[in-house]
Amino acid sequence: MDILENRMNRIAEIHQKINGYWESLSAQGRTDVRIMEICGTHTVAISRSGLRATFPKGLKLISGPGCPVCVTGQSYVDKAIYLARQPDVIIATYGDMVRVPGTTGSLEAVRSEGGKVEVVYSAHQAVDLARRCEDKQVVFLAIGFETTAPATALAIRQADEQKISNFFILSSHKLVIPAMRALLNDKDIRIDGFLCPGHVSVITGWRVYESIVNEFARPCVVAGFDDEQILKGICEILRQLAEQSPAACCVYPAVSETGNQHAQQVIHETFDVIDTYWRGIGIIPASGLGLKERFSRFDADKRFNLPVFEEHDPPGCRCGEVISGKCIPPECPLFGTICTPREPVGPCMVSSEGSCAAYYKYDRH
Ligand code: SF4
Repeated sequence: MDILENRMNRIAEIHQKINGYWESLSAQGRTDVRIMEICGTHTVAISRSGLRATFPKGLKLISGPGCPVCVTGQSYVDKAIYLARQPDVIIATYGDMVRVPGTTGSLEAVRSEGGKVEVVYSAHQAVDLARRCEDKQVVFLAIGFETTAPATALAIRQADEQKISNFFILSSHKLVIPAMRALLNDKDIRIDGFLCPGHVSVITGWRVYESIVNEFARPCVVAGFDDEQILKGICEILRQLAEQSPAACCVYPAVSETGNQHAQQVIHETFDVIDTYWRGIGIIPASGLGLKERFSRFDADKRFNLPVFEEHDPPGCRCGEVISGKCIPPECPLFGTICTPREPVGPCMVSSEGSCAAYYKYDRH
């Protein structure tokens, strides 16, 4: 009981501080503030806890490009579907990708037609699958940010050392900082501060956000995922705005200044930084990870003679605008009517970290 009571008291204190900073901002003539939560896990936690309803009117939380499935382009989904239809290929993928609609169906639909699509929980499981199925070509859908890239890199190393010749990756790994920079350079989006992603920052450390602060003078605060952590992060952003002292900092004890340097090294040794496509944003220079030449034999793009697929969103879907903070899910005309978790039109309604799925489940009414 004491633990719960203490927690409630701490949360009440943070709310008081938030209201205090808000009053200070209002006195300076600032009546609306837009904070972007980059991470999909934050988006879901914010919706689930009902935090938005507790904030001063004018304080807006907007979703960012931090759901790995949502930012992955349609052409990538179409490539995966094409590969899944090849008779000797097994697609190994994280579960959220299975139901993402492509131009000609989804991996789930291909599986029901007899295509081989296996859900795995790690890149290593995909390597194991390749070892067990020697007569098949196993293609792992390598998506995600700095968080999942080290595991993909280690899986490549493992396959290399064990001379596994039927394991490949279709890489769509992405880096968060270039996306933040691209959004801040977009004149159609206003972002006053960032609630930075906890998981990514465990790898990168929180000081990487100093480059954003130095260039754009926006608060960048790393927070964890429970409501107290999220409130602390938002409170710190408001403090910095009220005191006009933007900084990079961290309220999440799991994140250090410089992050996991071993994981950073593994990424650096396995991948080159490349330009890559983000749904809703377009091609962002130096924002993706492609395999280094010495590991290129694991690159599914090179191993299979893949046709060129165009980038386009499903008709009427506003996922691209949702994940770049230009609109919120209920502003999409398909939200909750034509597009639902049961029959999703875009990836933001499919992914467990998708903003549309979170709004549908917790904020619909
Ligand atoms: Fe796309 Fe559906 Fe979200 Fe609209 S509600 S943006 S169609 S996922």
